[in-house]
Amino acid sequence: MFDALSDRLGGIFDGLTGRGALSEKDVNAALREIRVALLEADVALPVVKDFIDSVRTRAVGEEVVRSVKPGQQVVKIVYDGLVEMLGGTEAETGLRVDNPPATIMMAGLQGSGKTTTTAKIAKRLSEKQRKRVLLASLDVRRPAAMQQLAILADQCGENVSSLPIIEGQLPADIARRAVQAAKIGGYDVLILDTAGRTTIDEQMMSEAAEIASIAKPSETLLVADALTGQDAVETARRFHERLPLTGLVLTRMDGDGRGGAALSMRAVTGLPIKFLGVGEKLDGLDAFDAGRVAGRILGQGDIVSLVEKASEQMDAEKAERMAAKLKKGEFDLEDMADQLRQMQRMGGLGGIMGMMPGARKAKEAMASANLDDNVLKRQEAIILSMTKQERRKPAVLNASRRKRIAAGSGTSVQEVNKLLKMHQQMAGMMKKMRTKGGMKAMMGAAS
Ligand code: GDP
Repeated sequence: MFDALSDRLGGIFDGLTGRGALSEKDVNAALREIRVALLEADVALPVVKDFIDSVRTRAVGEEVVRSVKPGQQVVKIVYDGLVEMLGGTEAETGLRVDNPPATIMMAGLQGSGKTTTTAKIAKRLSEKQRKRVLLASLDVRRPAAMQQLAILADQCGENVSSLPIIEGQLPADIARRAVQAAKIGGYDVLILDTAGRTTIDEQMMSEAAEIASIAKPSETLLVADALTGQDAVETARRFHERLPLTGLVLTRMDGDGRGGAALSMRAVTGLPIKFLGVGEKLDGLDAFDAGRVAGRILGQGDIVSLVEKASEQMDAEKAERMAAKLKKGEFDLEDMADQLRQMQRMGGLGGIMGMMPGARKAKEAMASANLDDNVLKRQEAIILSMTKQERRKPAVLNASRRKRIAAGSGTSVQEVNKLLKMHQQMAGMMKKMRTKGGMKAMMGAAS
């Protein structure tokens, strides 16, 4: 069995707690373990390399948080990186099937679970989105495959049908007939199950390309078997070269595989993973969830809750630190960036500012500056385009620096100026709090 990653990391980091920031040496030691974990999870080597580099950049210099073990902190950074790399926002993973009849084309090697997945998707669409679905098999070389799809369609309930089989018809003709039947029959969705082979060959590819040009699918999904690991990645790469794929489905995720293939396939093709096959039965299809797959790659059942706890504690500690800084009357642009991030996470205005009664005025200043989420993101981008020194000492920001920052963040000099003015107002307010007898007095006065 695989060792839990945080156990492995524990030893490396035991002596680290309490030091200022994660050093390159410590991070490198941790990344060696993470590298092994990813390779064991069957992530392709070039993908592992890129990923490790990006995590290193992110982790080195990160402040050590007192309340979580540094090992856990690195695991969290790794986990967040994996989730980001796996993608999987709602907009990406949902199927585009709005204009009836919308066609979904299924591609993949024989035995990948393509036919089963076709039926699973039909069942899901009919049950969750009340769609009427027509299924058609184009696998003319394997009559059994056509029969299999018809039987599966019957099991999907009354809103799913299969196109009657006409022997001797060519795949392209079946595709035309299916599109016609879907239109006439008033179906919402048509799913075409194309022929697979045991290996990729030219004929299969050109046949698939021809069908795509006839049926003009709104989704073209590649089905791949997660248990085949690196082979699945190579399959995805080659299909993607020839077909305008829109997404991936990974089957047999109920098996022993660690899910590394998911990460590699996403990295190599850039395509979103839409579903995971998790069993032979027709309801064995899960919507893709990047968090769950990331946890699985790291080899820990409870990694998600661990990460949630770690980030809660990290937030709490940051809030504490911020309060201490404010007490001293310090508030630089880095603190402001923290605030902006916090506010975005909390879904708008609020954050630590909002929790401190005495800071009501500062909150009002932000509100009057009309901070919606988009503005918050732009402002964060502005601060991220500054050097560390500029963030700590905004006074050095002369005209040419402001121009550079505006260009770097894709904003305007006016916006940069506005942000700096807002920062000044906020910092001024903090100072006033202090001179008027500290936070306690302010809080007392406000309540
Ligand atoms: P096709 O040749 O690509 O159309 O593959 P099939 O759909 O016929 O599936 C091949 C075998 O894999 C069948 O026995 C399926 O029941 C099984 N299968 C498909 N998807 C999954 C899955 O997600 N998990 C498991 N355990 N078995 C699956």
